Amino acid sequence: MKLIFLGPPGAGKGTQAKRIELLHGIPQISTGDMLRAEVQADSMLGQQVKRIMDLGGLVSDEILVAMLGERVDRPDCARGFILDGFPRTTVQAEALDAMLSSRGSKIDAVLLLLVNEAALTERIAGRYSCARCGAGYHDLYKQPHVAGVCDVCGSREFSRRADDKRETVVTRLEAYRQDTAPILPFYRAKGLVHDIDGMANIDAVSVSIDKALAKAEASDTFAKI
Ligand code: AMP
Repeated sequence: MKLIFLGPPGAGKGTQAKRIELLHGIPQISTGDMLRAEVQADSMLGQQVKRIMDLGGLVSDEILVAMLGERVDRPDCARGFILDGFPRTTVQAEALDAMLSSRGSKIDAVLLLLVNEAALTERIAGRYSCARCGAGYHDLYKQPHVAGVCDVCGSREFSRRADDKRETVVTRLEAYRQDTAPILPFYRAKGLVHDIDGMANIDAVSVSIDKALAKAEASDTFAKI
């Protein structure tokens, strides 16, 4: 099962992709997380991309396509994967298509999280995660059960993304409108897009996604898992 989560920053792609990862045992591939790991490690690539990411711009297609190509060839992707944050441009969508078809494979479904952009800044500005295990939280919508302690691993250290500042969110939304939204017709033409109401609460969004996946799975072309 090869899935893509699409939607603007803050739409809930990461949250939902992580749940599908647990449910179906296929890896979530977040290109944003991969790039942040490079920045954290202060690698050559990390040094190259840090500034662009901090400003909310998009890293070059060349870098992303190479990074993704290497990632999906790893053994843990043999049964499929969930893309979160890729593709983000038409060039990336076409490269992904070519990459998969050269391996006799294809995307099975695109889950598009529809959200009210006005609400996104609030969502993004309030989010933070456990510094140890990466579990996601939000100042308003999802706080740890015990204040200051991660529900998942018990760590007391949390962090916020450098690009989750209000000013940067504006640039990231602009990048989505300009570069990422134009990908949709490409996948709609293939009949792969499932529109999901991303403004509902997290559990309701999960239910909609499960229904969309069941529908996709019932179609003949879906790769059985
Ligand atoms: P995300 O975690 O998906 O919000 O990504 C964080 C940042 O990483 C983005 O604002 C971009 O700077 C960069 N990035 C992640 N994925 C891509 C991609 N597919 N193409 C270009 N830049 C990306």
